[in-house]
Amino acid sequence: AKRSGKNTFAIYNEKMRIQAARLRATKEEIQGALEDGISFIPYFQPQFLAGSLELAGAEALVRWQHPRKGILPPGEFLHIAEEMNCVAEIDRQVLRKSLAIVSDWREAGLVLPRLSVNVSSQRLADPGLLFSVEGFEDQVSRLSFELVESTYLDNTSEQVKQTLAQLQDLGVEMEIDDFGSGYASIASLVNIRPKRLKIDRTLVSNVDRDDAMTSLVQSIVDIARALEVEVIAEGAETASQIETLTSIGCDILQGYGLARPMSAEMFLETYGMQETASVASQR
Ligand code: C2E
Ligand code: MG
Ligand code: MG
Ligand code: MG
Repeated sequence: AKRSGKNTFAIYNEKMRIQAARLRATKEEIQGALEDGISFIPYFQPQFLAGSLELAGAEALVRWQHPRKGILPPGEFLHIAEEMNCVAEIDRQVLRKSLAIVSDWREAGLVLPRLSVNVSSQRLADPGLLFSVEGFEDQVSRLSFELVESTYLDNTSEQVKQTLAQLQDLGVEMEIDDFGSGYASIASLVNIRPKRLKIDRTLVSNVDRDDAMTSLVQSIVDIARALEVEVIAEGAETASQIETLTSIGCDILQGYGLARPMSAEMFLETYGMQETASVASQR
């Protein structure tokens, strides 16, 4: 028994060793991807006005263009990047690239009403955040930062508060992401003075099937109204959810039921259509 116990331990040890080696390799790949400057790219998920379903904006969502594994979603690497303390650098690259892409779209005739970019708490604490919009001054009035991890937002340091205020002075809007998920608190609505809040997907998924959930989301909308904060519902997947969210008074809708995140090329192809057509007809 003693012997087999030892063997089990040896096998376990071997597994751990392989796992650790794999993690090390992934970290090196992430480091390399950050340095090449082309591997982390934004995808864009459109958002629509509730009711009219006009294009209201888009959320930039990071993807890792991996040489062997293809396009990877953040769930595959962001937690590792966090351990490496390099989410702030990913955020910086995603923001700069998104702004450049939106700028190109404008030249191609597609004016995006608003660009929303996720900003991690790591990035928020970085005083350089302010400089990342440099060179894109013409776009700041259509730029919005989605702030997550509000455990952090609730006891914001003076430094963070100052950076946020300076960005808001420049015209950058703030949004509270994943509201109702347990991380974003009601206090952040007063502390951050956001322009919008995004109701978390977990609340949206049952909004049309559970009366208590409908009332809960309705109450969030009421609070937002009272504070003059707009409401976005994320993760709207079905026609019935879209209908309920609209009747409850959500301002903006985002979800697979309307459109999935897509590449910059696909976004322009899909939402730049009308412009392209009118430009073509002028020729
Ligand atoms: P999030 O900011 O709450 O973004 C919404 C996520 O929900 C996205 O996942 C989006 O693809 C997904 N989603 C949208 N509609 C639906 C739907 O109808 N059903 C379902 N099941 N999912 C839907 P994604 O792109 O995998 O991103 C996951 C999370 O990673 C984001 O959640 C955000 O917290 C983080 N993230 C993404 N991009 C960045 C970034 O550039 N920087 C930072 N710091 N975090 C990012
Ligand atoms: Mg977000
Ligand atoms: Mg969200
Ligand atoms: Mg979410």
